[in-house]
Amino acid sequence: MSARRPLIAGNWKMHKTVAEAEAFIQRLLPLVYASDAADVVICPPFTALAAMVDSARGSRVQVYAQNMHHAPAGAFTGEISAAMLTEIDVDGVILGHSERRELCGETDRAVALKLAAALDAGLEPILCVGETEAEREQGETERKLRHQVQEGLSKIGAERLPEVAIAYEPIWAIGTGKVAEPEQAQDAAAFIRALVAGRSPEQAQRLRILYGGSVTPENATDLLALPDIDGALVGGASLDADAFAAIVGVAS
Ligand code: PEP
Repeated sequence: MSARRPLIAGNWKMHKTVAEAEAFIQRLLPLVYASDAADVVICPPFTALAAMVDSARGSRVQVYAQNMHHAPAGAFTGEISAAMLTEIDVDGVILGHSERRELCGETDRAVALKLAAALDAGLEPILCVGETEAEREQGETERKLRHQVQEGLSKIGAERLPEVAIAYEPIWAIGTGKVAEPEQAQDAAAFIRALVAGRSPEQAQRLRILYGGSVTPENATDLLALPDIDGALVGGASLDADAFAAIVGVAS
């Protein structure tokens, strides 16, 4: 683990009603109470955000949304703006998750607009990037990452780069139980940091890079020990408070 403060974020996706989220947070808070060496984030669905903000208030747990629209308001049925998130004290937002890119057609351009709007609103963004299995097999990983990182960050000034966390999530590792080899994760994270260094070598050293893709308490130790990995974006294992707290424990 580097000198950068570790960040462990749990992406619940479309899981947990408000009642289930309440049960989770009541179990999690005492488990992570003493883990003061890492930032801890949960990303509930929109319907549970306000309840989780209230229940986590005063604790070490921050609450992020899983998506937002870039526009301040407008005729965008089903969408949520940055101001709607900050009004209820949400701390940050996941942007460009591969499921949104694949299932909802989210483009790099849309993600770039969202990222700038999130920062302008005071939200801490996690920008997700990563290659498919076919792209890795065809030697296209770096091309894909270059495109996603450079486009995603294209609408913000270099001085704001450290406010962004980038999650390297190989799509073939998400929800599959097929975790990246530590060398693959390190190579990709170092490549991403070098891309950011192309904008500003100093800010690239401050920006946090997370690994995401089938992280568990068992494999977290090896992944979080990598020099360019500063935390994890956790899907499945974040639904269980004990498993999520165990990953936080590894990071702290
Ligand atoms: C994710 O959804 O970002 C993720 C990494 O999921 P999982 O941990 O379940 O692979």
